[in-house]
Amino acid sequence: MPARYCGNKVIGASFGCTVVVCILFAAAPVVITVCSLNTIGEKATPFVYIPVYILAIAIIIVYMMTTLTDPGVMPKRKITLEDKINNGQYQQLETIPLNPAPPTQRDIENNINYNEESAQEKVVQNQPLEAQVNQQRKIRATNHISAKFNQQPKCPTCGVERPPGSAHCSDCDHCVLFQDHHCPWMGTCIGLRNYVYFVVSTISTAIYCIIVVAFCGAGLYMGITFPDMTGKNNYIYCLVQGVFLVMAVFGFFFGVSMCCSHFSLVKSDFTTRQELRHRLNVHQTLDQTSQMNDKERKEFVQQLIAEDPILRTLDMKKYKDSGVRRMFYGRKLPILRNMTPKAAEEVAWRWTVVLGGFDDTQ
Ligand SMILES: [Zn+2]
Ligand SMILES: [Zn+2]
Repeated sequence: MPARYCGNKVIGASFGCTVVVCILFAAAPVVITVCSLNTIGEKATPFVYIPVYILAIAIIIVYMMTTLTDPGVMPKRKITLEDKINNGQYQQLETIPLNPAPPTQRDIENNINYNEESAQEKVVQNQPLEAQVNQQRKIRATNHISAKFNQQPKCPTCGVERPPGSAHCSDCDHCVLFQDHHCPWMGTCIGLRNYVYFVVSTISTAIYCIIVVAFCGAGLYMGITFPDMTGKNNYIYCLVQGVFLVMAVFGFFFGVSMCCSHFSLVKSDFTTRQELRHRLNVHQTLDQTSQMNDKERKEFVQQLIAEDPILRTLDMKKYKDSGVRRMFYGRKLPILRNMTPKAAEEVAWRWTVVLGGFDDTQ
């Protein structure tokens, strides 16, 4: 569960996690500089280490931006009894009566809502099964965008009608838009709004680790080859350089592998979650669930862009690949947590359809 600061306004990694990461990145250049200056004495100048310091500060800033940026958390709805019964399992309509049993005293005590949707559902109960299913889907579509697509199931925990690509994170206990994965290093979900910062942090970690490997490798070589230079504390000097060298090698391979895998995911417009679970990406899901032809979908997307004050300021033709466009434009999504669940669902669907490349016909 990520930490929440400023009265729930800011979600981020736990304080301890943040401190450890900052100390690790800030301490490395200081230790390397002190050790190396000790070795080569007056001939060395601390300015040699400026790239390490700059990158260390840059990494800490990008780390903070990733952890403190809301990943695209959707506000929860109140779970109704209908949600519990339906929960996207349309095939159960044959066995579960559309008109649920009237609320018991316990339901009322538990504050389970009987909203107006249930009243509408009662109307369709005498129709043939297929008509009932279609009618049910229309009723469940709480906004005009999702009504254009065959429904995704509501989140059983939050009750939100989430768009494709979104997923519920059990660590954060929220649905997150374009959820990529929950990052234990960052202590937060990586979603639509903080994905670009996350990718930048993997690139900068890889570059930083190459520089640290070079400095520590050279320092260790000097310590082993010229033990007199470091005096009687030679073994401590070599140990410190060796430890940072091993950590930097690990960091380098970790950063490079993360960086390469995310470049490939961005190129193909998949999230880590979709890739690992062999799911369709958002574009493919929208394709499958929509009944629109090419012309209709282009017009539909244009209408969605025109409706949104932020989307209409973005140049959609700037990035050819929808994955790249989602990465760069995703951070401009307004914070959904502060909206009502209904308004948030509408904005979430609009951004998913537009950034999901729905109008990029093959
Ligand atoms: Zn959820
Ligand atoms: Zn999470």
